[in-house]
Amino acid sequence: MNTSVQKGLSFARRMYLPRSIGLGIGFFAVAAALYPSHPPIWMWIAMIVHGYGWPHIAYQLAKRSHQPYAAERRNLIYDSLGGGFWAGAMGISPLPTVTVLSMMAMNNIASGGLRLFVLGSLAQVAGALVAYKMFLPVLFPHVTQLQVFACLPMLVIYPMAIGLVCYRVAVQLSRSKKALEKLSTTDSLTGLMNHGAWKDRLALEFDKCQTLNRQHSVALIDIDHFKAINDTYGHITGDNVLKQLSNALSASLRQTDLAGRYGGDEFCVILPDTTLTQAIEILERLRRTVHDHAHSALPDLKLSLSIGVAAYGTHQTDAGLWLHEADMALYDAKSAGRNRVTSAQPSSKVCTREGAALG
Ligand code: GH3
Ligand code: MG
Repeated sequence: MNTSVQKGLSFARRMYLPRSIGLGIGFFAVAAALYPSHPPIWMWIAMIVHGYGWPHIAYQLAKRSHQPYAAERRNLIYDSLGGGFWAGAMGISPLPTVTVLSMMAMNNIASGGLRLFVLGSLAQVAGALVAYKMFLPVLFPHVTQLQVFACLPMLVIYPMAIGLVCYRVAVQLSRSKKALEKLSTTDSLTGLMNHGAWKDRLALEFDKCQTLNRQHSVALIDIDHFKAINDTYGHITGDNVLKQLSNALSASLRQTDLAGRYGGDEFCVILPDTTLTQAIEILERLRRTVHDHAHSALPDLKLSLSIGVAAYGTHQTDAGLWLHEADMALYDAKSAGRNRVTSAQPSSKVCTREGAALG
């Protein structure tokens, strides 16, 4: 089922309850106004069918349509046409007419904005003119006490039904917004933060270190010879290795540590309130766990990690420089033979390779 059909069906489902309630109780408002003029039997049948049958017919029409959204909008116009017709038949009796038509107008605005309101209002006028021409009832007849009581349920219950529908839409919207936000900051393969989200977090944590005098560390983790793993075992196994590593990463870190996928086979971690020595210890443990792990299905598959770590230092003027130090440390780990944790030595390395790895 395509998304526009789904959207239309959910629109029709959303309208089903307010239409059923509105027309069901609107029947009393119209009946109380028409009763004194002794309408013919066919009008009573029409009122009952409109009040209690039409909501179900309308829902079925939208449900069975190839374009349920357009069909439901048409249903709303038919609602207005019907409401206008009864208003005309009542001779525009002030209280029931205002009650029925204004409640419908509220529903039209809530469902389709100003455009549907205008179209609905035109349909109401057309319906009223047809009925008035057919019956020529007394224009603006007196309001009776029965009419007042018959209109009360509509005035009280219908706005609640519309309020409930609007609330449900707002909740659904807020859920979709949260899901979208999560999707836009999550790496789809590993479920970790993606590159952009992690970099935003890094900038935030860098500010905390600067302003609150905190001692964070940052690490870049790269799988050794990952290309060879892809070439030997295929990309699906390569993907599984990336997922397993992200699980191992989450398992070996604290709740407060912030792990992400920097890109490809490279991962990144912010370790809040962690000195360089503590960070090296944590990451060395991770390196060993990954190295010692035996893959039951692929006994020949051996994995090793090269890790570069850098602590925050007051000499770092921005988060990029901090990350650059970790990247230089990673470069050193690779050059020194891989499968190791190397820490940054800020002054000399950063100066000689300035800007080489800022992403
Ligand atoms: P090194 O030890 O120097 O890091 O060697 P390497 O082979 O790991 O080299 P490099 O880090 O440059 O290679 C990363 C490879 O990761 C290249 C790319 O084909 C592969 N890769 C990147 N993203 C994905 C992914 O999502 N899934 C899989 N299976 N492979 C990926
Ligand atoms: Mg690699």
